[in-house]
Amino acid sequence: MTTRFENGIVVTLGSDNRVIWNGSVVTEGENIVGVGDAAEMKMRFPNAEVVDCAGKIVLPGFICTHHHFYSTMARGMAIPGEPASNFVEILERLWWKVDRALDEEDILLSAQIPLIECIRNGTTTVIDHHASPGMRDGSLDLIEKAVRQAGIRASLCYEVSDRNAIGGGIEENERFIRKVGQGDGQIAAMMGLHASFTLSDATLEKSVGIAKDAGVGCHVHVAEDLADRQDSLSKYGMPTVHRLDKMGASGEKSLFIHCVHIDESEMDLIASTKTSVVHNPESNMNNAVGVTPLFELLKRNVLVGLGSDGMSSDMLSQMRCAYLLHRLANHDPRVAFLEAPKLLLQNNAGIIERQFGIRVGELAEGRPADLAIMDYQPPTQLSEANFLGHLIFGLVDATVDTTVCRGKILMQNKKILSMDEERLARRSRELAPQMWQRLAAL
Ligand SMILES: [Zn+2]
Repeated sequence: MTTRFENGIVVTLGSDNRVIWNGSVVTEGENIVGVGDAAEMKMRFPNAEVVDCAGKIVLPGFICTHHHFYSTMARGMAIPGEPASNFVEILERLWWKVDRALDEEDILLSAQIPLIECIRNGTTTVIDHHASPGMRDGSLDLIEKAVRQAGIRASLCYEVSDRNAIGGGIEENERFIRKVGQGDGQIAAMMGLHASFTLSDATLEKSVGIAKDAGVGCHVHVAEDLADRQDSLSKYGMPTVHRLDKMGASGEKSLFIHCVHIDESEMDLIASTKTSVVHNPESNMNNAVGVTPLFELLKRNVLVGLGSDGMSSDMLSQMRCAYLLHRLANHDPRVAFLEAPKLLLQNNAGIIERQFGIRVGELAEGRPADLAIMDYQPPTQLSEANFLGHLIFGLVDATVDTTVCRGKILMQNKKILSMDEERLARRSRELAPQMWQRLAAL
C-alpha cells in the first residue's frame, strides 16, 4: 500500500537536512518512496492513500537507546523503609525488589504500557534493558510479543548479574540472541549485563564469549555512580572501563550506559575501541549521581546517544534535559545547543544502524518509513537554519498526532490503533497492588 503524508512541514534530518513547507512523505510497504513538494508527490503517486498533515510537522520517528520497560509498575509506589540516601540504596531498596516481584503478566504489561507511551511520543525505535529474576527464562519472548503487537522496533536483552544467582540471565540472553539471529529490522538482540560491580570475572567472561560468538554487542551500565568505579578499583586494581575492556565487553556494537565517573584514560579507551556511550541526563539528575563528561567524550569522536533509563518514553524532553543540564553544569550558556539535538537526532540513529543494520532517523527515499507527525504551527519562520531553535523551544512541548513505524500507522488523531490503551492500563492497575505486596515481603 502507498500512502502520501501530505501538506505538512517536512523536516528530513540526515546529513542534508531539508525543511519542506507544504511537503509530502510517501511510503510504500515498510519504506519511504518519495519526499518532496506535495504537488510534485501527488503527480508521482496519484493513487496513494492520503493522510492530511496540514498544521503539522513531519519528522523521522524518535529513538531511545536505553530504556527499562520493566520499571512501569514502580510508578506511584510507596517504597518500604527509610528513603534511599544514595545510588546503591536506590538499587537495593527499589529496583532490585521491583525486578524480583514481577511475574509473567506483569512483565507483559510493564512492556505494553511504555510501548504505548513510545507511540504517543513518536518514539519508534527503542533499546531496552530488562530484568525479572523472579520470572527470568522466556521473559524476553514476552517483551518481543508486546513489541510486535505495538508495531515499533526494539533491541532486547536481559541484564545478567550475579546478585540473585551466579551468571543469572546468561542463558536467557543466549537463547534469545540465537532466536533473533540477524534480526528482521524490527527486533534485535544484545548481551545485557547489569554493571561491573555485580559481575564476577567468570560471569563476564562467559557472557562476552557468547556475545562475540554471535556477533552482538554488550549493553552494560558503566560507572553510573562512584560506587561502581570504587568497586572496580578495589577488587581489580583498575577503573570500570579498563576492566570491562580487559574482559572484552567493549567494541563497536557495545553500549556503555551513563559513563558518569570515568577518567581521561577511560575516555581514550572508549574512543579507541569505538564503543558507544548512552547518556541519560534525567535519570542521572533523579538519582543525583553526577554529570557525564559529555563534551570530553564528543571531543574524542565517541558516538554518544541519548536514553531515558526508564524515566520516560518522550525523547524530546530527554533532549531538552541534556541541553539544560550541560549549560548549568558548565556554567556556560553557549554550550549544548548543537550537542543535545545531535545525541538524539544523529547519534541515536548511528547506534541503531550498528544494532539493526538499517538507517532510521532520516526521511529519504529507500529509508524505513518511521514517522513522528506533530501538531505544530511555527510562530516564526522555520527553515534549515533555525530548526534547532524550534526543536528545543517549541517542538519539545508539541503533541504527537500520528506515529508511523515500518509503514504502519500506529497512532492517528492521537488514538492508539495497535493496542487497547484503556484496557491495558486498567489491567495494570488491577495487578499493581499484588506486585507491590510481593515486593514489600522481599
Ligand atoms: Zn539503565
